[in-house]
Amino acid sequence: MYLTTRLKKSKAMVRLVRPTELTSDDLIYPIFAREDGKSFEIPSIRGEKYLSVDDAVRKCQDAVNLGIPAVLVFGVLKEKDADGSIALQKNGFHARVFKKLKKEFGDELVLISNVCLCDYTVDETCVYAEKGKVLNEKTAEMLAKIAVVHAKAGADVVAPAAMCDGQVRHMRQALDAAGLDDVAVMSYLKTDSCLFNPFFEAMSLSRSPRRGIDSSKFRADIVNEKVFMQKADLDISEGADMVIVKPALTNLDHILRVKQKHSAVPIAAYQVSGEYAMMRASSEAGYFDENILLMETLNSIKRAGADMIITYHAQEVAKLLSKKNV
Ligand SMILES: [Zn+2]
Repeated sequence: MYLTTRLKKSKAMVRLVRPTELTSDDLIYPIFAREDGKSFEIPSIRGEKYLSVDDAVRKCQDAVNLGIPAVLVFGVLKEKDADGSIALQKNGFHARVFKKLKKEFGDELVLISNVCLCDYTVDETCVYAEKGKVLNEKTAEMLAKIAVVHAKAGADVVAPAAMCDGQVRHMRQALDAAGLDDVAVMSYLKTDSCLFNPFFEAMSLSRSPRRGIDSSKFRADIVNEKVFMQKADLDISEGADMVIVKPALTNLDHILRVKQKHSAVPIAAYQVSGEYAMMRASSEAGYFDENILLMETLNSIKRAGADMIITYHAQEVAKLLSKKNV
């Protein structure tokens, strides 16, 4: 008779028979570096801090010490401009951050650059638009130029985040033309979601972030899995080395579908700011133990097929995993 109770005899036995296992090697830690050098708790992502460049080095050293292999770098500028051309300054803030981190860590830490217009434009939307119409080619061309600036400064991976068609193709061509053929492209696949809101607040210079174009025009409809897979197919056909699915918890089926259809392409799931906020708030309200809820969600993401997980909890997770009792 088949009795699985035998396989649940001890925690060691349970660990032994696991087909998939979350490890610190799977973790990517997102960091927010501020150009004004101020370091303080991010109000919308409580528990995480904005970092000066020197603080970012220290945080990255902590990540390396915990066995975390990669960071995803967001830069918060002092000023933005109308068309985002500030992004192309060779010694702009993002470039300075990548130069510093690459000098400190070399190949010990993978530096992933978030490439999007919203980091640089005053209206803080991800795409160029005219009278409500998305200017797809203009956006993709600009993303490619920004990617080259970041890659020349030391980014190992560039992650186009605007969800426009051709962003991967433009980026790959521009990187290769600049002799940066060893830089990988990791493309974001996003569904429209309110779970991004705490992140928008964290990245915004204004009190009312994301003016202008309706963001559902460039993210995939949460209800339509066919459109999501079309975008995945397109980005992979254009040469994406890896993809990021976000948010994670509302897209577990998408992670599985991408995994099944493109089994050779590594998938990162981004447990986004809203997922982080829900866990933090519900644990503070006493509904759940945050660590248990965290590990339950991360393991479900891993089980769905994610090879990597981007999470604001990365350092806590690495510490929990090192205790080997989760
Ligand atoms: Zn954006």
